[in-house]
This record gives sequence, C-alpha cells and structure tokens, in this order.
Amino acid sequence: MDKPRRPLFAVTLARGALRQTPPRQQVLEVFASHPERLPVAEVHARLRDPRINLASVYRAIHRFCSLGILVTAGHVPAGQTYELSDDYRAHHHHLICERCGTVTDIEECRLKPVERRIRRQTGFHVRRHDLRFYGVCPTCAAR
Ligand SMILES: [Zn+2]
Ligand SMILES: [Zn+2]
Ligand SMILES: [Zn+2]
Repeated sequence: MDKPRRPLFAVTLARGALRQTPPRQQVLEVFASHPERLPVAEVHARLRDPRINLASVYRAIHRFCSLGILVTAGHVPAGQTYELSDDYRAHHHHLICERCGTVTDIEECRLKPVERRIRRQTGFHVRRHDLRFYGVCPTCAAR
C-alpha cells in the first residue's frame, strides 16, 4: 500500500503562504489525530478551543482543500466529509451507500498500470486519483 509522502505539520508550516491562525492549526490537529473522514460540524466539535466559530472552520477547510492538504470524501447525511489527501495518509478509495450515506474505505488499488498507460498514451503525468463506488451497503441490502 502507498505510504503518505509527507509529514503533515512540517509541510504546512513550511508553506510561507499559509499563516498558522488558531482555526487552521486546530483544524489540522483534528485531521492529524483522526484518520477517518469528517463532516465540518464534527471537526468543529473536536477543536480544542470551543470559541472558534463554524464559519472559521469552513474557511480553514476550504483553504486546506485548495492547497491539496484535504480532499472531499463523499456526502453523508451530516453533509460533505473531508479527510487528509493521499500526500498525508495511505491511499484508499471509498464505497458510498446511496441509501444511508455510509462511507467505507477500501484499500485495494489496481490503478497504477492505468496511470502509467495514461502517461504513455497522452503524456499526462498523473499525480493522484480519487475513486468512489456508489451503491448499496450490506446493512441496507438486508433490509
Ligand atoms: Zn447503507
Ligand atoms: Zn477515506
Ligand atoms: Zn487508487
């Protein structure tokens, strides 16, 4: 399985462009200590400082998404979820249940040869991919 490529805090602190405001710092801490995808409200609930408001958490998350540190990880009933990108955690894909919204990680990935073929055929250098399977989870299927 692919290993994350970079230590989280070293890189983000090294980026001069990213001022480490308390919301940003704490949002990053939540994701660093919590490997599962999280909706925004859940990130907010886990912050050390409860005075940080939800809007600041949204802003911090969107900023981290634009920097490639966080990625979206599927819609659940609680809203869009986010998690660390492949640069900071092991590569995996998502199984998303269209009935209950449960998202399950699946670590199997056989797309490396496809990436190599894309590069050979088109010259495009694939750096990462994001794959989601939509369907019905075993719990919902049994109902
Ligand atoms: Zn389900
Ligand atoms: Zn995930
Ligand atoms: Zn993959």
